[in-house]
Amino acid sequence: MNEKLLSCPFCGAKVEMKHEFPADKLYSVWCENDNVCSVVCHTIERTEEMAAENWNTRYYPPEVQEVIEAAQRVVDCQAVFNGVFEAVEKLADKLDAYKEMEAKHETHD
Ligand SMILES: [Zn+2]
Repeated sequence: MNEKLLSCPFCGAKVEMKHEFPADKLYSVWCENDNVCSVVCHTIERTEEMAAENWNTRYYPPEVQEVIEAAQRVVDCQAVFNGVFEAVEKLADKLDAYKEMEAKHETHD
């Protein structure tokens, strides 16, 4: 399975994908924290991908959702900045190479 499973929304523990009924190709996601987390967290779907998507789809309180979305915007901005920094570094390298080439020409003249 490619999709990463989020941790349990109630206790933060790792979760496990179980293939419970092989004949019907049904999957479920379980919180591994059986001793402390009293909530049974599971979803049953026909494919692992669908089960993972269901598990990873959360409904947060509005104030929490706002923070998550703001954090995502920061992450997106960081990606843009990284792209700009890479471009500037490449330009700086090219400028250095040009200056070197120019300096060699000057010494030969
Ligand atoms: Zn849990």
